[in-house]
Amino acid sequence: MEDNSSERASCYVPDPVYTFLFPPEDVQLFCIICHDSDLFLPWTDLYSKDTDPALLPCGHVFGSECLDVWLETHDTCPVCRFKLEYELCKHPIRPRWLTRENVLFVPPTLPEGGTVAAQCGPCKRGTEQRVASELCMELAERYCERKARYEQTGWETDRKKMVKAREDLERLTEVLTRSEDLQW
Ligand SMILES: [Zn+2]
Ligand SMILES: [Zn+2]
Ligand SMILES: [Zn+2]
Repeated sequence: MEDNSSERASCYVPDPVYTFLFPPEDVQLFCIICHDSDLFLPWTDLYSKDTDPALLPCGHVFGSECLDVWLETHDTCPVCRFKLEYELCKHPIRPRWLTRENVLFVPPTLPEGGTVAAQCGPCKRGTEQRVASELCMELAERYCERKARYEQTGWETDRKKMVKAREDLERLTEVLTRSEDLQW
């Protein structure tokens, strides 16, 4: 009978991920597609060999070359069959190529409590921009109404409402620039 605990250890991204930088001798990470290449982190400019680890949201890592070839004909993880497709826009979820420079900035994997967004990055930004411009029009309209009303009445309560509307409008741009996230 096959002992698959070593297989498990060899294809899940190590936790903590910077274990890659200081591999202990008892953790052998190798590409489970070809069962041949040992995986270790490259520098960004020494890139694209089968020893370069590529990570999927399910937490599985493979040699980037082998995974590329696999993904030409499949849309699932070679180990757990996790479907690599965004639910809403149906675009493929791309693997993250791990390097010494980016390894600490990849989103957490699903077993680590990470999440997959409903849409890919470009689709999500498109939706956000549409929503934002609609909201912006709404807030701008409200500000104009309140400004007109204050100019009519000169009341302090109307001045406060006008100031509040202007602040809401200004805050919108702040919120939008903050939407950088750590999702797949
Ligand atoms: Zn391989
Ligand atoms: Zn998987
Ligand atoms: Zn998309």
